[in-house]
Amino acid sequence: MAGFEVIEGQLKSLKAEGRYRPLTVWQGGSDSWMTLQDGRRVLQMSSNNYLGLTKHPALKKAAIEAIEDYGVGAGSVRTITGTLDIHNQLEQRLAAFKGTEATLVFQSGFTTNQGVLSSILGPDDVVISDELNHASIIDGIRLTKTNKRIFAHKNMDQLEDVLKESGPYRQRIVVTDGVFSMDGDIAPLPSIVELAERYDALVYVDDAHASGVLGKCGKGSTDHFGLHGRVHIQVGTLSKAVGAVGGYVATSQVLKEYLTHTARSFLFSTALPPSVAATCLAAIDVLQREPELTERLWANANSFRASLQADGFDTGGSETPIIPIIVGDPARTMAFSQRLLEEGICAQGIVYPTVALERGRVRLIVTAQHTADDLEFARDVLKKVGTEFGIL
Ligand SMILES: *Cc1c(COP(=O)(O)O)cnc(C)c1O
Repeated sequence: MAGFEVIEGQLKSLKAEGRYRPLTVWQGGSDSWMTLQDGRRVLQMSSNNYLGLTKHPALKKAAIEAIEDYGVGAGSVRTITGTLDIHNQLEQRLAAFKGTEATLVFQSGFTTNQGVLSSILGPDDVVISDELNHASIIDGIRLTKTNKRIFAHKNMDQLEDVLKESGPYRQRIVVTDGVFSMDGDIAPLPSIVELAERYDALVYVDDAHASGVLGKCGKGSTDHFGLHGRVHIQVGTLSKAVGAVGGYVATSQVLKEYLTHTARSFLFSTALPPSVAATCLAAIDVLQREPELTERLWANANSFRASLQADGFDTGGSETPIIPIIVGDPARTMAFSQRLLEEGICAQGIVYPTVALERGRVRLIVTAQHTADDLEFARDVLKKVGTEFGIL
């Protein structure tokens, strides 16, 4: 009988390379302070729950009421019997929020990128992608037989060079993250849009870390830069700042109709639970009704980043609530992260191959829920451990 010897061998190699990470188990839900299994309370600085919406009373109420009305599951894929009125309401509301003709909702941001990219890219097209784009973009492209070009991170000269050569292709599509998840910097969308217009290319932005964060009421990077009507495809997530789970593409009615017939992750996977759709509708209400949440998020992020820089930390290119502290090699980075946890702060270590070998970092994510005291505590601990590690 066949066994798992091969897999076991691979797992051993992972361990030997120092890439084995047991899952950390938390008690209770996402919050600014969280409890580890051993009962220790730590300040959470690794969560994407930017606005604390996972426990917002209005979202909880909407979810509970929807479960009472609809039950817990959608019962089918969207194309058979799974399109409930509440899914349609969510798509209409998201389109109005984003200022686009239409939106289509998927089960996650990951499957949105997978479904959209694999549907629109063929062997006669070319996709031009920033080197630091998210794994789900890379995988979406891999599902196709399209032509792929990579430009160095945010390098507009390279992007233009590639676009210049791309005339003969049927379609040119430039793809970028809106906010880069490991560095916390923002894509130069105005320049990308200008170049795309000059060379007749479509623009595709993945706003997973910009949804609910960037732009008025968290409308995303297109709104942030005032580029409404000039970005063809905006992907967003409902899993991070919005507090639930799911993804969507905000785009034209034409692309929406095409995707409902071709995007395989949409066609062959069950619709979001109706309670999730209800939760997301309530989340959009909150984003528009409580703009002080995004304001507090940015005030926290900007003051905390400035204080870390004043203390002498290298925060890379951060300009959002994602704030990396560059430590260096992988082992030292993971040890740094571990020491922070011992001192009461959860700050995820991110190392090769996710980032370059010598650019290992702990990634801090500031939220609207962090208090001035929380951030002062974090600063003190970081100073202490940073000194210990000789990076200050
Ligand atoms: C997190 C993330 C995704 C995936 O979104 P999920 O809703 O968690 O599946 C896609 N793209 C980027 C840039 C992300 O950061």
